Amino acid sequence: MRGGGRFGIIIIGLIGLAVYYFSNQETNPYSGKSEFNTISIDKASQLGAQSYVQMLQQEGGNVLCSRSARTCDAGSREVVETVREIGERLRVAAIEMEEDYLAAGYNFTPVAREFDWTFNVIASEQPNAFCLPGGYVAVYTGILDVAGNMDGRVDLSDLDDVDKLAVIMGHEIGHALAHHGAKRMSNSQLVQMGTLAVGVGLGDMSGAQQQMVHQALGMAAQGGLMAFSRSHETEADKIGLELLVRACYDPREAPELWERMGQLGGGQRPPEWMSTHPASETRAENFRQWMPAAVEMYEQRCGGGRREF
Ligand SMILES: [Zn+2]
Repeated sequence: MRGGGRFGIIIIGLIGLAVYYFSNQETNPYSGKSEFNTISIDKASQLGAQSYVQMLQQEGGNVLCSRSARTCDAGSREVVETVREIGERLRVAAIEMEEDYLAAGYNFTPVAREFDWTFNVIASEQPNAFCLPGGYVAVYTGILDVAGNMDGRVDLSDLDDVDKLAVIMGHEIGHALAHHGAKRMSNSQLVQMGTLAVGVGLGDMSGAQQQMVHQALGMAAQGGLMAFSRSHETEADKIGLELLVRACYDPREAPELWERMGQLGGGQRPPEWMSTHPASETRAENFRQWMPAAVEMYEQRCGGGRREF
């Protein structure tokens, strides 16, 4: 086939992708934007449940106070109960937040009521936490000191003030509520299909030329997906802050927590921090912008203290 024909194939392929892109949009009430997502809520939750079960099986004896747990002493029990209590407050806050956004006229499918909320604590030195689609949450004990008194060891005194732990959990839950996992998968898939379409059109080029085009495309795609991840981090920060206030945890604890996370050494950082976290200054600036409204809402709703449910 001559060059013109191949060029035609690229164009048809890319038009097809554009149609696919624009016919799979959903409203995101948190950004107010329309976003590409091809993975249904049920499918994402199903994938979330699968990976969660797998992860729990792998961790086995490290899942505090589970059936296979090595120990469930009073200390472990307290950690698990604290995480579950924070989780419960954030769950209630998430349901309420979605209802308020619906009442305000945003058109989206709420998920917080349907999620199969599950909270587990993993004994691990890794300072990590996540919430998978479907509401499957894990908190690693390694993060408790970062969220606690930062004295270099994990113990129950880290639970004296749990606002920062709530900041982390709220952020992770924010990712799940905004379907970030599904959107990331959808976009990676789109990039793969686009690369394939272009690849078909490169048949007449020499091997070296093809390689160059692929490298350039790969770098552009990688850059795009990383920017995408950073925007998700910012969005999860914002949703997390709102959940925090609604659950009556002090929003003013959030900036310091993220500062601490940013200062963790490379090897200690949880995976999502490798390349995707927003620059510390950007994050601090965001919080400076959001904080006055958050504090006002906190004082109005909670009277400056924690509300009992
Ligand atoms: Zn995040």
